[in-house]
Parts: sequence; structure tokens; C-alpha cells
Amino acid sequence: MRSHLLNDLTAERYRRSVTEGVERVAARLAATDRPFTGVTAGELAPRIDRIDLDRPLGDTTAALDELEEVYLRDAVYFHHPRYVAHLNCPVVIPAVLGEAVLTAVNSSLDTWDQSAGGTLIERRLIDWTAARIGLGPGADGVFTSGGTQSNLQALLLAREEAGTDDTARLRILTSEASHFSVRKSAKLLGLGPDAVIAVPVDHDRRMRTLALARELERCRREGLVPMAVVATAGTTDFGSIDPLPEVARLCDRFGAWMHVDAAYGCGLLVSPTRRHLLTGIERADSVTVDYHKSFFQPVSSSAVLVRDAATLRHATYHADYLNPRRTVAERIPNQVDKSLQTTRRFDALKLWMTLRVMGAEGVGRLFDEVCELAREGWRTLAADPRFHVVAEPALSTLVFRCIPAAVTDPAGIDRANLYARKALFASGDAVVAGTKVDGRHYLKFTLLNPETRPSDLAAVLDLIAGHAEQYLGESLDRAS
Ligand SMILES: *Cc1c(COP(=O)(O)O)cnc(C)c1O
Repeated sequence: MRSHLLNDLTAERYRRSVTEGVERVAARLAATDRPFTGVTAGELAPRIDRIDLDRPLGDTTAALDELEEVYLRDAVYFHHPRYVAHLNCPVVIPAVLGEAVLTAVNSSLDTWDQSAGGTLIERRLIDWTAARIGLGPGADGVFTSGGTQSNLQALLLAREEAGTDDTARLRILTSEASHFSVRKSAKLLGLGPDAVIAVPVDHDRRMRTLALARELERCRREGLVPMAVVATAGTTDFGSIDPLPEVARLCDRFGAWMHVDAAYGCGLLVSPTRRHLLTGIERADSVTVDYHKSFFQPVSSSAVLVRDAATLRHATYHADYLNPRRTVAERIPNQVDKSLQTTRRFDALKLWMTLRVMGAEGVGRLFDEVCELAREGWRTLAADPRFHVVAEPALSTLVFRCIPAAVTDPAGIDRANLYARKALFASGDAVVAGTKVDGRHYLKFTLLNPETRPSDLAAVLDLIAGHAEQYLGESLDRAS
């Protein structure tokens, strides 16, 4: 069994094993002609349940053969141009290479004595990101597992900086289109059930700053403490960007912590043509970025950045066995002092390799391409009488629904769209997302693949319209 340990004696086995795995994936990528096979959980579960985990195959090739059956063949493939559903992106090769390296070396970024150069590489990338945002010389931050954790940590710092222990009076103001991790964080932070105030959005799904000002006034009148305003730079459904300069002004006036959730919109930081859309982000107290969304990085890769490094002390705890107090005086860089996690992946290496091979502009150009594609898709949808599209895209999402000519009641339109999405998923020809707008069912394209062409979008729209028509045909049959 020792031959399975990765070490000096097994370097050749390591090379062979990983190469065999890489070849399987490469072959699968080349052979994929649809984003999904349409397999159901009911079909797949018995294949997985049948496997006796207490009887190993003992052989890499056999294990990979089995893996084809239970995973590789039926996985959802994001590199396929007709996967246009969620904010999970196709990945760039330098980042995948970084992933392979960081896994093999297995650095843990909690302490210097488990990572050495890894810690410094992460710190450089944090400084680089903070500089792109414009947070100033006192900024800092740390890599996290995702936007959810980044938002939680930012709000933890905001709560600690709010200057009151009376958690019942604390309020977080965020738009009604913001991510649910804001509400989840409020709960985890022990705030009351009314802690999150949902500020209305305008037609383009941007926070109404007049309404924000009104809510802040109301907090002041009622003796409540607005511990943070969470602005979103790229809402998950619409890609809408809240008016950051006005939010910043209001945060100044009311003494609230400004957090910008740029989990999705962070790609604009490297965009050659669209960076201006983030104007105002430089005034934030904290920022969430998800490199695993708009930087084309594999899951996980995310960070939380703060304007004032000192605020990270609220996440600092010392353990004699790990990061004793004296290591601070000795200036030993232990990233665990800044993180909610302890053992932590060296995810930063993926971004490092990406920047060193492709450069930031290369990433930004890819993100620009998907934003352009969304604009083109919007024109197509707006001109097509079969569809209703909700708003012009700010980034790379399109929310729309099919309006079959024969249906007039809203519930019937809802059902036709729900059916079309399910039928499309079951066919595996394309994968689209769904959401609700004003209580009605809509469909969503999240465009993150620069290989998706306008003709792919047109083809997917035809498929959707076809499934909706088929549903109507069947429901007419049922009715007659
Ligand atoms: C995706 C997303 C999140 C959550 O990020 P995860 O990486 O999925 O945890 C938070 N905020 C916004 C706006 C998002 O789009």
C-alpha cells in the first residue's frame, strides 16, 4: 500500500496515474457533443450504490473505467458552448495546471511553516487584487472558498466594527436582488430575524439609492444601527451593478460599513473596455471577488479584500500548537490569523499561473467577449416575438421567457417555461437556468463561455420554443 503514497520512490507511478487520468478527461472533452447526457438521479444512483467501497479495485485503470460509468460520461460539461445556465465557468488551462501542482504539493495556507512561498504568492495576489480595486495602501485580505464565505467574513468584520454589542439593533441593508448569502450570514452572525433590510431595485435591478437613504434615515430615527450596506456589483440573476458612488456617499453619511459583493462582476477588474462599470468600488470597506466565476478559474477560488488590514484582527485566534502569539512579534506570516478557515487550499496558485501565462488582459478579454455575446443575445431576444426579455444585460446574463402565441394566462406561460427548461435538461442538448421575476417563472442564460456563438443562442431559443409548443400541444390533448 505504501506504493500509493506520493513520494520520491513513487514519482513514476504518480506520473503514469495522473497522465492516465488527464488522458481520460481530454478524450471526454473531445468527444462531448452535448453539455449533458440527460441522465436522471434515479438512473445514476443504482450504478453508484452498487459499488462496494470496501472492495477496492486496486488498479488505476480499472478505477478510471468505473469512473467513466458513474461520473465522467454523464457529468455536466461547462466547456460545451450550449451550457448556458449557472455562474460556473469553463476553466483556463494554466489554472488547471496550477490545480494539479497545488494538490500534489499539498501546501496548507494556514501557516508559513506549512506553505512558505505559497503564503507569499497568495499575499502578492491579494495586494494585486486590492490595487486593481483601488483600496489604498492599508488594504489586505485573504483567499476563501467562495463568495458565500467572503460575504460572511466581511459581515463579521462589519459587525465587530459596528461599535455595539446589542445585536438586536444591528441592520444590514442590501437590495432585494442581492445574494442569499447575505441573509444566511446575518443568521450565522447571530443577528435578529429582521436584521436584513431589502432595499427595492429599479427596472434594471439596481438598488434604488433614494430608498436606501430613506431606510438609513429610518434606522437612525428608530435607534437601529446600520452595520453594513451590501452593494452588489453583478447580481446573480441580472448582472446589475448597484450605483456604487451613491452607495459610498450614503455609507459615509450614515457611518455604515460598505461591502461590495463583486462575486460575479469582479471580471470587470481586468476588462480592457468595461472597468469603468465598477467605479466607486474603490470606496468600499470590503469587497468579495469570485475568481471562480469571471476569471475562468476552477472551483474554489475566491477572496475577501478589506480597506483596513487591521479589521482582519476580528478573525484572529491563537493556538499554541499552530500560530502562537509570539509569531506575530516575530513577523512570521501566518495567513490563518486572517482567515475563517484553518487548513486551507493553495487556490491562489491557479490565479498565479493564469496571470503568469495569459496575463490579466487575456482574462479580461475573455470576460468582455461574453459580455458582448450577451448584448447580441439581447438584441436577438428583443426582436423575437416568441420571447420576452426582462432587462438589457449589464454583464453576461439574460433573463427571458417564452410567450407562446396560443397562451394568454400567466400561469399557463409559467408552466410552458418550466416544462421547456426541464425537457431541455432531459434532452441534454443544452442547459439553461430558471428564476422568478415578480413571482413569474423565467428562463436565464448565464454566458461565461467565450466559445458560445450567437448561433448557439439562436439554436437554444429554437429548442426552448419547440419544447414550449410541444407542452401546449400535449395540454390541449389532455383538455380535449
Ligand atoms: C455566486 C455568488 C455568491 C456566492 O458565491 P459562491 O462562490 O457560490 O459561494 C455571492 N454573491 C453573488 C452576487 C454571487 O453571484
